[in-house]
Amino acid sequence: MLTDYHVHLRPDEVADTPAERFFTAANAERYRETAADRGIAELGVAEHVYRFTQALDVWDHEFWRECALDDLDEYCGFVREETDLKLGIEADFVPGREDRIANLLEQRDWDFVVGSVHFLRDRSLDTEDYSIWGSGESPERIWRRYFDTIAESALSGLYDIIGHPDLVKVWGDRAPRPDKDLRYFYEPAVEAFAESGVAVELSTAGLRKPVGEQYPARPYLEMILDAGCPIALSSDAHTPEQLGFRYEQALELLDELGVEELAVFERRQRRMEPIG
Ligand SMILES: [Zn+2]
Ligand SMILES: [Zn+2]
Repeated sequence: MLTDYHVHLRPDEVADTPAERFFTAANAERYRETAADRGIAELGVAEHVYRFTQALDVWDHEFWRECALDDLDEYCGFVREETDLKLGIEADFVPGREDRIANLLEQRDWDFVVGSVHFLRDRSLDTEDYSIWGSGESPERIWRRYFDTIAESALSGLYDIIGHPDLVKVWGDRAPRPDKDLRYFYEPAVEAFAESGVAVELSTAGLRKPVGEQYPARPYLEMILDAGCPIALSSDAHTPEQLGFRYEQALELLDELGVEELAVFERRQRRMEPIG
């Protein structure tokens, strides 16, 4: 069984993507049809939490204020009542705001919650606005802080899946990278995944970003598997065309590493299903 859980019903451009146009049964059907064509039976959506006004109770960064235009309960109601998609959310981990995140999550009946780290404090890892790159901080420090935050997100117990777990590399050669063996940075994150029992996302989204590589990098994925962590497979699609993006490559990698099962979720219960 193939999954695609980390899926957005609309692209990231906020002004051009009103909920009324994208949270429709017809749009969900486009995703369902494309997924079926690509052999993906388990399809879920995970909109960015910061696109919803309720997220401002968690954090009020300027970027979140610009994006928070929609109602979270309307999104949940739409997915449950007008689609047959699994209901998820991509909920940023904001250190120190665990109680507020828990409060937002507990009030809704998700099938799964994807945890993400896009920001370190108020600086962004993956957007040109608010970018952490060029802020004067060394790449070693940025990478260490990133993986420490990923570890914290896993240990928070807030999430079912840790999404794109080495997003820090997104810019590839366009941002400075640490010189040392990257496994040094992965270590605390892998320990936290093992301790918390969370599933880790294999995301093909990195293949369409400057870095040109899946998340997590192969040595990191090997460490994650050695630690016995379950894998959740997703494309982080923002359009139907991106569903299952380069899954053949991801499946080849999983096969090489001896992975035979993927994590499947329903009402936040996980089970493992054979890939095929
Ligand atoms: Zn993300
Ligand atoms: Zn995403």
